[in-house]
Amino acid sequence: MEYRNVLTTCPYCGTGCALYLQVLDGSVVGTLPVKGHPISEGALCIKGWNAHGFIHHADRLTKPLIREQGQFREAGWDEAYNLIADRFSSFKSDFGPDSLAVLSSAKCTNEENYLLQKFTRAFLGTNNVDHCARL
Ligand code: SF4
Repeated sequence: MEYRNVLTTCPYCGTGCALYLQVLDGSVVGTLPVKGHPISEGALCIKGWNAHGFIHHADRLTKPLIREQGQFREAGWDEAYNLIADRFSSFKSDFGPDSLAVLSSAKCTNEENYLLQKFTRAFLGTNNVDHCARL
């Protein structure tokens, strides 16, 4: 039996609480708060305490799903990205760049959110970008 605690940051909101993921034999089995952390000071909210719950959950999506005639089917990443690119391009050319909008997530890192707004403004050509923390 191999057990270790892995220090990380809670993925659920922008507060940035620290937590330990409890890893037992290669599987994440629990979450612990981090005493002395300057933000969370040894506390977690209910989401942080359960931050490990989705990692090995059977309902977790691990492959893209494409909806066709009201039904989802599994697809490869290349097919999904190509479909997104085709749809973005056709909407942009048919209706203009402001027909597109991007909504980002507090689950992303600051760096990912920066890249998303850059992609939206510089590549898609619209300022229609927002973040769930403002909604
Ligand atoms: S523990 Fe709660 S408050 Fe802290 S980062 Fe996670 S979701 Fe936000």
